[in-house]
Amino acid sequence: MHNSPNWPDPRAHLLRHRPDTAMVYFCPAVLQATARRFRQGFDGLVTYAVKANAGEEVLTNLVAAGIRAFDVASPREMYAVRAVCPDAELHYHNPVRSPEEVAVAVALGVRSYSIDCESELDKLADVPEGTEISVRLALPVAGAAYDFGEKFGAGPERVAALLRMVLARGYTPSVTFHPGTQCADPAAWGSYIRVVADIAREAGVTLSRLNVGGGFAAHRVGAAPDLEAIFDHIRAEVDACFGDHPPALVCEPGRAMVADAFTLVARVKALREDGSMFLNDGIYGGLFEVRDIGCTDRVTVLAGDGTWRGGVPQARVIFGPTCDSIDRFPDPLPLPASIAEGDYVLFAGMGAYSHALSTQFNGYGLGAPVTVAAL
Ligand SMILES: *Cc1c(COP(=O)(O)O)cnc(C)c1O
Repeated sequence: MHNSPNWPDPRAHLLRHRPDTAMVYFCPAVLQATARRFRQGFDGLVTYAVKANAGEEVLTNLVAAGIRAFDVASPREMYAVRAVCPDAELHYHNPVRSPEEVAVAVALGVRSYSIDCESELDKLADVPEGTEISVRLALPVAGAAYDFGEKFGAGPERVAALLRMVLARGYTPSVTFHPGTQCADPAAWGSYIRVVADIAREAGVTLSRLNVGGGFAAHRVGAAPDLEAIFDHIRAEVDACFGDHPPALVCEPGRAMVADAFTLVARVKALREDGSMFLNDGIYGGLFEVRDIGCTDRVTVLAGDGTWRGGVPQARVIFGPTCDSIDRFPDPLPLPASIAEGDYVLFAGMGAYSHALSTQFNGYGLGAPVTVAAL
């Protein structure tokens, strides 16, 4: 196990050090268990989308759990991966690139590129013959927290035309899509897979691989999402739609891989008479995503005497620590009515898009993660 834990759990560290800055606690055992869950449950190659959390402690523990392929979006992400895993397989699935970025990718031996238009295919002229080029499909599909299709991806007819170009230029044709992040509905993958099979048939192109993207939901509100139901649905749809010669499958989870391995802790700075509350982290810090996809309901409160606050919840308006008025939660958050200044508020499942998006605005933001044996 990389990063041997120094602390049994966040509570032990909080009570010993009483930190007055926002904290993140990392549990390597949880991350490695999630990686094994993907590798056992998903019938194909599991790659990790580095942007969700590019921390060195994340990358090293994923490598320790057998992950060898990574979805990268920039040269810096490529170097970060190769620093911890020199023979890692890199998939460069940001479909928009500068010529300079392509040159770095070629030098590093990137194994797979995605594209969604001809001009981006033209930029790949120096990529070795036979390299996989995965054409990105976008459909208007419901079920995710927000739609990725608006920015990237081509419609079915364009995808068919691009696949023929990829083949004609001597590359290996594949298709990729991303159903949108925080997607818990297996049917979102099913609708994409059916369209991909139609496109391949129509274009007369045998796909080498089908990359079903990331998007797998993490446990944020209500019950934990059923990842295995999504894996099984993907397998069943591919078998039903492609018959005897299905493409090999690839997935590239970011959020669902890393979310549960981290707990974020913010401290109560101030309670106001109107019931509102100031925390020492907010939307410019690790709680950035709360503004766009809402807050998790996996929240617990640790009192100064080391006990967990319970009792009747009271909904409070939550402000972050910076002097900017947009630094507030969009919705009131139910918290135990007895909460007091100096208490710690623990947000579970905060490993994705938290550290990566945290700024130092106004002198706040997250520090380095503290490693724990359990969360
Ligand atoms: C962001 C991204 C992912 C990861 O998405 P999650 O919703 O975090 O799983 C995977 N693939 C591509 C191309 C992405 O841009």
